Amino acid sequence: LSHALVNGITDYIEQDLEEIRPRFPKALNIIEGPLMAGMNIVGDLFGAGKMFLPQVVKSARVMKKAVHHLTPYMLKEKDGSTRSAGKILMATVKGDVHDIGKNIVGVVLGCNNYEVIDLGVMVPLEKILEEAARQQVDVIGLSGLITPSLDEMIYVASEMQRRKLTTPLLIGGATTSAVHTAVKIDPAYGGPVIHVTDASRSTGVVGQLMNPESRPKYIETKKGEYEQARRDHASKVSKVIYLPIAAARKNKFKTDWAKTSIAKPSFLGLKTFEDYPLVELKNYIDWSPFFHTWELRGRYPDIFDDKTVGKEAQTLFDDAQKLLAQVIREKWLGARAVIGLFPAASIDDDIELYTDESRQKVLTTFHMLRQQAQKAENQPNLCLSDFIAPKESGIKDYIGCFASTAGLGIDAPVTRFEKAHDDYNSIMLKALADRLAEAFAERLHERVRREFWGYAPEEKKTNEDLIHCDYRGIRPAPGYPACPEHTEKHVLFDLLSAEKNAGISLTESFAMTPASSVSGFYFAHPGARYFDVGKLSKDQIEDYAKRKNMSLEAIEKWLSPYLTYK
Ligand code: SAH
Repeated sequence: LSHALVNGITDYIEQDLEEIRPRFPKALNIIEGPLMAGMNIVGDLFGAGKMFLPQVVKSARVMKKAVHHLTPYMLKEKDGSTRSAGKILMATVKGDVHDIGKNIVGVVLGCNNYEVIDLGVMVPLEKILEEAARQQVDVIGLSGLITPSLDEMIYVASEMQRRKLTTPLLIGGATTSAVHTAVKIDPAYGGPVIHVTDASRSTGVVGQLMNPESRPKYIETKKGEYEQARRDHASKVSKVIYLPIAAARKNKFKTDWAKTSIAKPSFLGLKTFEDYPLVELKNYIDWSPFFHTWELRGRYPDIFDDKTVGKEAQTLFDDAQKLLAQVIREKWLGARAVIGLFPAASIDDDIELYTDESRQKVLTTFHMLRQQAQKAENQPNLCLSDFIAPKESGIKDYIGCFASTAGLGIDAPVTRFEKAHDDYNSIMLKALADRLAEAFAERLHERVRREFWGYAPEEKKTNEDLIHCDYRGIRPAPGYPACPEHTEKHVLFDLLSAEKNAGISLTESFAMTPASSVSGFYFAHPGARYFDVGKLSKDQIEDYAKRKNMSLEAIEKWLSPYLTYK
């Protein structure tokens, strides 16, 4: 049993359990004996960096299947559950649908004998705090991927403070950071708040918190670290000079439009792609982020030669290829997309789209944000609208948009895996769907450049070139650093009828569902590039609210991580 656990082998677990069951007084003793012994070896090896996340998740699968097999016997023997090391509540916050990271942390904590109460995704504050109280949990873990989730986490923290709770609060997810936790979340809650950088750290953190001896010192150290992080952050921010928005606009990215060739798209309006062949997308996958999801550091394909993680990376990759082949063969996932190409012109930081080439009637307007931090000489204060010809120039320019998904139909196979106690494959499938969604966006962008917009008909690039964005044009995504304000996704989705045309909808925080979806704008300008708008001053926020016809409070809420002021 120990061998099966350490090596993640599920094939004979039931036979093995049946064989040894008569030798133990109770089924519970098998769990608390050999199974836990095996799990402890896994925990120790993982903690020592001698075992990696994919193996741990496979070991957990053996444990889960074993417990499932023994449960009927335990019920007969009237044994409830095993003694756990502590109860941890996990939730992806309201408005967010991403759960790969949360699920991985849940598995790792489960391996270390913690009882994990997983409330799933899009969990409102009320439900989190109600369950936490009802189940008397020891720790609450919040997860989220998109920036609006950061605000939701602050809200949960302040509500915990209002209710005078003292339960430790763990913060994790792609856009979370130690700095954000220190500056925005920790001050909202008097209880312990701890940012967890990745799953492999989670047991260490929870272990410190659960041990009555280490707990006070650990919390004090963390509070001190965050205090220091707040001071460092404040002094860093106060050193930057922010230009008034008018001055930033004067220092825009300048283009000699007379010398810039602008191709006319092969069609204007929308084009939909139903049931796009996954087999075509396979070759466009960027595998490096896949390894990062599984916390294996390195870049594909060099990662296979890595002395530490190479072998594990290869096993993981082989498993992924097998599942991917099945997904494609048996059509487990549906890929759909809609793209749009429109006549457009910029007016300061706005981009106007027109119904047709006569450019008389405005179809919709995108509102962009501009960098305000003072730049070195000859460095522009960028705004995405700089990459579209200004209206007053009279030059006929265009913009494109897209929304694509590769996650349609994923719920059924995920549920199947979960029912079979197979977190390994459920996480693997979600990670593959994410890869296919990004590959789809990459492939569509290539076809836009070559065929649909056609400004680079001769382009011939390797997948490596595509991954390095070594081509003309960009596809910035709303919610990302060049255009961080999420409500623009609403304008984008309306324009594309993305729900009807691609089967993608938006949550109240503008997360896309299915989670394996991508959307954005196409800019063809040869000088177009990705950038970070950085922090924004109140004058721009006021101006932006007016342009969007939204209240200042609403805009400040959506842009709260980006404000220079409180
Ligand atoms: N090959 C990667 C691609 C995703 S990341 C993968 O498979 O995961 C790159 C994408 O993120 C870009 O195409 C763009 O849509 C978005 N992006 C990156 N930086 C951005 C920025 N500064 N502003 C807006 N969008 C950005």
